[in-house]
Amino acid sequence: MQQERLLKVLVIGDLGVGKTSIIKRYVHQVFSQHYRATIGVDFALKVLNWDYKTVVRLQLWDIAGQERYGNMTRVYYREAVGAIVVFDMTRLSTFQAVLKWKRDLDSKVTLSNGRPVPTVLLANKCDQRQHGLCPKLPKLDNFSQDHGFVGCFETSAKDDTNIESAITCLIKAIMSAE
Ligand code: GDP
Ligand code: MG
Repeated sequence: MQQERLLKVLVIGDLGVGKTSIIKRYVHQVFSQHYRATIGVDFALKVLNWDYKTVVRLQLWDIAGQERYGNMTRVYYREAVGAIVVFDMTRLSTFQAVLKWKRDLDSKVTLSNGRPVPTVLLANKCDQRQHGLCPKLPKLDNFSQDHGFVGCFETSAKDDTNIESAITCLIKAIMSAE
């Protein structure tokens, strides 16, 4: 018999890093240059035939307009089983905020066994690599391991690079976390 798993996954990071674009690309296969700030909390649903016995209903929770405070309410975090922390690889300040977001997350939600929820790190806008910070950034693989991320990917919502791989990596970690 098939089982259904509802996974609440949070997408966090500073304003303008591409959170909404990543969700739209993954769920609706679209990209738009137009900056359209949504207000409040929004989520998108993608249904995946994960394996022969499991259907995953993936809820990606966007934040909109609340990024500027650098933290979110406990209501937003409640019952999340995974998270995606995004920074913009052309803006150093957004990378510097990554650990702040990770700490906010870990302080407000854990798995039922007390462990942190699986989280992937995305260095988004890799299509803008020529304007990128790569020389100034620490080795991202080491950085992400040291800080407890389950994986780290250079992504582009614009060119559709690595978005699917990153989210698949996260779902694998979530499914094996319990
Ligand atoms: P959010 O505030 O984190 O939700 O960021 P948005 O998704 O609204 O994106 C902010 C801006 O960055 C928009 O103008 C997007 O079109 C642009 N953007 C998002 N992802 C990418 C990307 O991968 N590459 C490029 N070049 N621009 C992107
Ligand atoms: Mg947004």
